[in-house]
Amino acid sequence: SPLPDYLTEVAEACSATKGGEPASYIPELAKVDPDRFGIALATIDGEVYAVGDAEHEFTIQSISKAFVYGLAVRDHGLEQVLAKIDVEPSGEPFDELSLDASGRPRNPMINAGAITAHTLVGEPDTAPHERVERIIRLLSDLAGRELSVDEDVWRSEVATADRNLAIAHMLRSHGILTDSAEEVVSAYSRQCAVLVTARDLALMAATLANSGVQPVTGKQVFTGAQVRHVMSVMLTCGMYDSAGDWVSSVGIPAKSGVGGGIIGALAGQAGLATFAPPLDAHGNSVRGVETFGRLSRDTGMHLMKVE
Ligand code: GLU
Repeated sequence: SPLPDYLTEVAEACSATKGGEPASYIPELAKVDPDRFGIALATIDGEVYAVGDAEHEFTIQSISKAFVYGLAVRDHGLEQVLAKIDVEPSGEPFDELSLDASGRPRNPMINAGAITAHTLVGEPDTAPHERVERIIRLLSDLAGRELSVDEDVWRSEVATADRNLAIAHMLRSHGILTDSAEEVVSAYSRQCAVLVTARDLALMAATLANSGVQPVTGKQVFTGAQVRHVMSVMLTCGMYDSAGDWVSSVGIPAKSGVGGGIIGALAGQAGLATFAPPLDAHGNSVRGVETFGRLSRDTGMHLMKVE
């Protein structure tokens, strides 16, 4: 197949792209080697093509938000989740302390919505550590292997979590959360500190692309309807406050994280993932954005196929 050669070519071309800085607001994340760069593509038939540092582990961070939203929808149905979290793009930074006029977080991809979605996992009496176990189970099912938590990144995030604690307190003051803010933020930070590779992420995205069925293990993780809700919020809200720019330049549902990962899902075709730690001003991986832009231009994968 010409695909591995093509991906190697793209990786070589995009490694010329410099600029950006690895996230440093979580001190442990700043220790990463900024030159790491990997690309992985997984087809819905379970073929995986990986180049560069695609087997290097890093923390999933905000990419988890898309999948945990799916889990909340799987556990409670869309209507119940919508009653708590809206699906409107916010245009605001991911860590904004804000709710909409109805008192809901604007969407599940900003932290206010993501922390709420996290607490919707399981039943109302599910303990915070059980939620984390459910979430790690879900992410492992999507990747097709057992994933674990980077304890150093988790500790580092908890030690510097003032902003997320402020968000959790805001949610509590509106009756959206009932558990203690400290417990919820600690558990949410474990969700963000799950270790993945670009290869794992490509398979996770391919599971979305494959209507919720993991392409290698064959496990049905989500239904088609659940995937549609997840991919819809990825498309409108997945790339921080540059979601509109992303849709216009790349045009596929995606989600990025401050660990340097980006996933994209092409329904009925493939999942894509990049890993390159330096981030732009929005928090998106600079080389990742460049790579997806190039793939979109070269392969015509943009959703709005107008010749
Ligand atoms: N753990 C991070 C936070 O909540 C995730 C941020 C991200 O990847 O955007 O601050």
